[in-house]
Amino acid sequence: MHILVTNDDGITAPGLLALAQGMARFGEVSVLAPDHDWSGGGHVKTLRRPLRVRRVRLADGAYALTSDGAPSDCVALGLMGLLPRKVDLIVSGINPAANLGHDVTYSGTVTAVMEGIIWGTPGIALSLDGGDLDASELDYTPAVAVAAQVVESFMRHGLPKGVFLNVNVPNEPLHRIRGICQTRQGLRVYRDRLDRRTDPRGRDYYWIAGDRPTGIPKEGTDIGALAEGYASVTPLKLDLTAYEALDTMKDWEWEPQPALWANGHRDTAIAY
Ligand code: MN
Repeated sequence: MHILVTNDDGITAPGLLALAQGMARFGEVSVLAPDHDWSGGGHVKTLRRPLRVRRVRLADGAYALTSDGAPSDCVALGLMGLLPRKVDLIVSGINPAANLGHDVTYSGTVTAVMEGIIWGTPGIALSLDGGDLDASELDYTPAVAVAAQVVESFMRHGLPKGVFLNVNVPNEPLHRIRGICQTRQGLRVYRDRLDRRTDPRGRDYYWIAGDRPTGIPKEGTDIGALAEGYASVTPLKLDLTAYEALDTMKDWEWEPQPALWANGHRDTAIAY
């Protein structure tokens, strides 16, 4: 099996090294990760500038590739031909903070794996619930063990087409982790606050600040599992269609409305 290891914290992140080392037992590992921190950078496709790739060495001496693109760019590069061999699985992480509920579209860790789905390659995103601790202070061993178990299950069972996994692990020693739960997305509670400041030239600028998000620890959800001391595995897909709304919206007016579609109306609108 050929595993592509990436992350959103950058090529020097300790969680990337731990994950790359932990994946070596499953086969060939290629590391291709961003050259700086893209946390919160979301699903990105860089189109307006070239992407550069450099060969570097990780802290353990292993060769790796780093790019100035986003995590999702790194995955696209890897799958579109930069890596000579076909990739069988993408693993992304280990992020030093949890990615739960609505975090998934912000998270570079998760959106790297989303990019894999677009290219037909399955993937697993891995995050450690490190809270406010610095990435260098965390012990990634328990998360690597959970990652290994999830990868082994993936190798045995495979995943349905288009499905990827979002894995979150409590920041606890392995013997205190109660197990692994299958979950659905919970509800994050964001506590962002807009900080308005003035620069030295007297112009206003804005900073999205505030406290770390909390969440509703409902049973059966990713947030609930972590709150109970379990690692959480949520199967996700890119189809965001609200199927239940298709039914409730079927009585909306979908026929062309002459008063709104009339040429005169459109001409006025674009006569700027
Ligand atoms: Mn990150």
